[in-house]
Amino acid sequence: MSIGSTTGIDILGMTADVLVELQNNLGKSLKVNEPLSRHTNFKIGGPAKYFFTAKTTEELVHAIQVADELKLPLLILGGGSNVLVSDNGFAGLAVMVKNGKYSIKGQVVTAEAGVSLGFLVQKVAAAGLTGFEPLVAVPGTVGGAIFGNAGIPQVAKGFIGDWVKEVVVCRGDTIVHVPGEQCGFGYRTSIFKQSGNDIILSAVFALEPGDKVKSQELIKKYIAVRKTQPYHLPSSGCIFTNLPVTDPSELRQKFPGQPRLEEFLKRGQLPSSWLIDQAGLKGKTMGQIQVSEQHANYLVNLGSGRAEEVIMLISYIKQQVRDKFGIQLQEEVRYIGF
Ligand SMILES: Cc1cc2nc3c(=O)[nH]c(=O)nc-3n(C[C@H](O)[C@H](O)[C@H](O)COP(=O)(O)OP(=O)(O)OC[C@H]3O[C@@H](n4cnc5c(N)ncnc54)[C@H](O)[C@@H]3O)c2cc1C
Repeated sequence: MSIGSTTGIDILGMTADVLVELQNNLGKSLKVNEPLSRHTNFKIGGPAKYFFTAKTTEELVHAIQVADELKLPLLILGGGSNVLVSDNGFAGLAVMVKNGKYSIKGQVVTAEAGVSLGFLVQKVAAAGLTGFEPLVAVPGTVGGAIFGNAGIPQVAKGFIGDWVKEVVVCRGDTIVHVPGEQCGFGYRTSIFKQSGNDIILSAVFALEPGDKVKSQELIKKYIAVRKTQPYHLPSSGCIFTNLPVTDPSELRQKFPGQPRLEEFLKRGQLPSSWLIDQAGLKGKTMGQIQVSEQHANYLVNLGSGRAEEVIMLISYIKQQVRDKFGIQLQEEVRYIGF
């Protein structure tokens, strides 16, 4: 790959030489000033200065190298289901990961980062393997799921990281195979999220032999649970992480007579949705963004919502929960372009 000078004439915020180099390297499908609202589940986000869809692993690695050589800020997007993109957009190269190959051999499943997670769950179950069913309704890609160790905390081995044998990443100009036990998976976290240095290219999983009929029953169950969540409206899923229980007696004092508290203490996690509900914030609206009436940890876009309104509502919720209960909420959603 040969990349030339990065200086040039600035036309409408674009440096002509950079654009030419990007087009030469990434081809005609490179888009300029592409609205990211088209690529996020929230339907929010200003334009990416440059936007490229990587349909193969080779294209993905090449795009990473090009951004590096042109010293362009790089944004990796999977399904865009856990991000809040600024109304001003992203001043660099946004790469949407769409490499989509997968294979199932015995109990070993290999999937590229751009494979849709829900699709993979169905294929794995149809192959007679079990373990992935709790992930069926998690939107987005395999790469995005590994980045944040997606899953549900209510069931044993309910996170994607519980099934990972190996993750293949692009780290600088090297391809690295990271064994599962070195991925640092925890609740909504991984070394990939912590370091921010790795682009996930693919992953290998070890599932368990199962029963196709039982897997389909489980899948139906996990999809049915989601009927209580606002899947019909644009959102980025849960805005805040659940909180670890550190002092049960303090919580019993703060929330006397609350019927569900003991269940949460047993689970070791206090759901943020419950706290936001306790603070009386269900239905609270700022502009076109609303705390969902169905599930208080979802902020939903009622139509033409803006990132600015999401930020104001997040800040209001955090302040209310802090003032009422002395508890600090932490965002799960990833901020981009702020
Ligand atoms: C309706 C709804 C329900 C949800 N339910 C759940 C749930 O039950 N459990 C749960 O855990 N989450 C849930 N989420 C959140 C979200 O679906 C997950 O976090 C999902 O795994 C994000 O994947 P994605 O591909 O959309 O990532 P994106 O939103 O595109 O990206 C998220 C982050 O990952 C990074 N990233 C993405 N791909 C890569 C890659 N290949 N290499 C390096 N970094 C990468 C991005 O840069 C970004 O920082 C829900 C979201 C919605 C909208």
